[in-house]
Amino acid sequence: MRPEGVVLVTGGNRGIGLACARRLRDAGWSVVVGSRSGLAPDGLAAVSLDLADPASIERAFDHVTQAHGPVIALVNNAGITADTLLMRMSDTDIDTVLETNLAGPIRLTRAAVRGMVRARWGRIVFVSSVVATMGGPGQVNYAASKSGMIGVARSLARELGPRGITANVVAPGFVDTDMTAELDDSRREQILTSIPLGRYASPDEIAGVVTFLCSDDAGYVTGAVVPVDGGLGMGH
Ligand code: NAP
Repeated sequence: MRPEGVVLVTGGNRGIGLACARRLRDAGWSVVVGSRSGLAPDGLAAVSLDLADPASIERAFDHVTQAHGPVIALVNNAGITADTLLMRMSDTDIDTVLETNLAGPIRLTRAAVRGMVRARWGRIVFVSSVVATMGGPGQVNYAASKSGMIGVARSLARELGPRGITANVVAPGFVDTDMTAELDDSRREQILTSIPLGRYASPDEIAGVVTFLCSDDAGYVTGAVVPVDGGLGMGH
């Protein structure tokens, strides 16, 4: 049974992360959302957190445990893109995406697993992308970060399984959020034709799967990569 503690959702102030935070709260969780802005929509508890800054991760994690209690579930959702063809990709494009989407979540997870080991219960969910396994033109940095999450989750599943801690990946396809609002109409049309369900996901459709993976019901699910992509990634 789930012990006392909170779930920390990174990037929980908007988009997929906010949908996760709301669904988890509705499922009875105490939720803390972390983002650079530190904003707390809907009266959710919030912490200011910059995943690209190791010191900020330490500070934010200490604040969450002192103010709200042990972190027994972590949803590594926050992420950014800096899309461009590799020939034009700057060092900053490479470093910021890898720091924010991969190294930061690894550091934050390292901080969180200590308490989960003590509790002998834990849930770690990484929000990756269909691009992790399909690849995407102009997304070498992003795809590297999102496929890296799969190796991280599966290594953690092996390391921490004996302690009652699960680690899983959710791989969304295209979701209606600020991130995809940047795509132009012709690219949107092109994407829609390749999605068997013929539409984008709502953030809530991703959040439902994340909430399940954090639940007691998902206690025997670990090391899984769960596609929530309308069929876009089939075969990858
Ligand atoms: P979004 O609307 O752009 O929101 C991104 C979130 O990440 C915001 O809450 C942002 O808050 C936070 N964030 C960005 N940089 C951060 C940093 N350095 N430290 C801490 N928080 C940071 O994104 P979304 O579409 O909801 O996507 C959420 C996740 O799903 C991402 O990992 C994304 O790669 C993945 N995903 C999205 C789609 C899609 O179609 N939308 C598809 C597949 C996967 P602040 O700006 O306040 O920091």
